[in-house]
Amino acid sequence: MDLEKLWQSTLGEMEIQLTKANFSMWLKESRPIDWREGTLYVSLPSNFAKSWIEDKYHKNILGILRNKENSVKKVEFVINSQMPAPQKAAASSKELGELGAGELDLGRADPETNLNPRYTFSTFVVGPSNELAFAAAKAITEVIGKYNPFFIYGGVGLGKTHLIQAVGNEIVSRYQKKIKPKYVPSEQFTREVVWGLRNDRIESVKKKYRDADVLIIDDIQFIGGKEKTEEEFFHTFNALYEANKQIIISSDRPPQSLPTLEERLRSRFEGGFVADIGYPEYEMRVAIIRSRLSEAGRNIDDNVVDLLARRLRKNIRELEGVLKKLLFLQETGHTEITMALAEEIIDKSTKNLSKRVGDAQILKAVAEFFNVSIEDLVSHNRRKEIVEPRQIAMYLLREISELSYPYIGEKMGRDHTTAIHSYEKINQEVNKNPALNQKILTIKDILYKS
Ligand code: ADP
Ligand code: MG
Repeated sequence: MDLEKLWQSTLGEMEIQLTKANFSMWLKESRPIDWREGTLYVSLPSNFAKSWIEDKYHKNILGILRNKENSVKKVEFVINSQMPAPQKAAASSKELGELGAGELDLGRADPETNLNPRYTFSTFVVGPSNELAFAAAKAITEVIGKYNPFFIYGGVGLGKTHLIQAVGNEIVSRYQKKIKPKYVPSEQFTREVVWGLRNDRIESVKKKYRDADVLIIDDIQFIGGKEKTEEEFFHTFNALYEANKQIIISSDRPPQSLPTLEERLRSRFEGGFVADIGYPEYEMRVAIIRSRLSEAGRNIDDNVVDLLARRLRKNIRELEGVLKKLLFLQETGHTEITMALAEEIIDKSTKNLSKRVGDAQILKAVAEFFNVSIEDLVSHNRRKEIVEPRQIAMYLLREISELSYPYIGEKMGRDHTTAIHSYEKINQEVNKNPALNQKILTIKDILYKS
């Protein structure tokens, strides 16, 4: 069978069904990479593309494929496949490690534990938004298995990966080689299981994880819904759990909001210790900036520190990014970091978006994300599936484009009080609801890329 041809003609049909922006964002860079026992493996450029397509277009694509080639039973999406060619040699941990580093900087991660030594407790700033998670994480390193499983959740860029890797690094330094932690992003776990199943190496994949004393799985939300990997994860989880090994899990949302996860797994998670990480408060943001400055042996004006901490509130990664840019400019340009320069860099990183995208694009992105029409968004339909997208649209019009409430109201066929109410409702809820935060970040991501 000519995979390339099959996939190209499938894409041809999808192209007709999708908008141009959607098509080029999600599918254009896809490639058929393998065909095995009725399953077509297709690679995609990013996590976002993968979860998006699995959510929205999976059935559609499968339908088209089956129409063209009735031996197609399944289609599996993988991220930019770096899977090795099928081979019978034993799967070494090195080989498995090469399956793709996901978001992790493998260049710097320890090959045995997969931990990045940069993430330690000592560089983690503690405050009200993360103190419970931090205390539990520390307790685990003292009494391994104390809170099992340990489940930590929170929005993007708030320190989940840092904290769970810090547990691993602390265990390495405290117990030397006697207790073996292993870190894996759930995307990588999935890739390895798929690879193992296809190449008859599943036993060595299982062994690799069951040999760990402390298994740390990052971003578990990406596991749900993939039967085989979920099943494999469940078995590994049980084997470790029953052997009293420690399991640490991170997620962008609480266990009860992992909709695709099987009930038995979800209830296991809920039965462990669950802690969340929220948005850092002002003092913490200042402390993080100061700690980064002292690590770098640099200094900037107090007023600039205050400005950064006031303006960059919802994502520590973004805060660090802006700080890095400023320090870079200071170093290379020998310029003072003035308030004006800082304002400019903050604007560039946060509002870059507002200059490039118009309100029509915002509405379109929201409509596409939720699979509703723009007419629905501006209609008076009160169905829940429409009300949430509509409120998010108003929120984004305000947040990104800084439009006035009366203007937003008019645009949405409503009065300005509705616009205010919608903005405030979402603005409050986004602080408490990681799933909502994730949706909004994804929509922004769509806008950034368009
Ligand atoms: P997440 O996994 O929740 O998306 P990360 O753990 O990758 O977030 O954190 C993003 C960045 O912010 C990392 O560089 C991390 O070191 C830093 N960071 C997050 N929380 C803290 C904290 N409490 N103290 C110091 N740095 C932090
Ligand atoms: Mg992370």
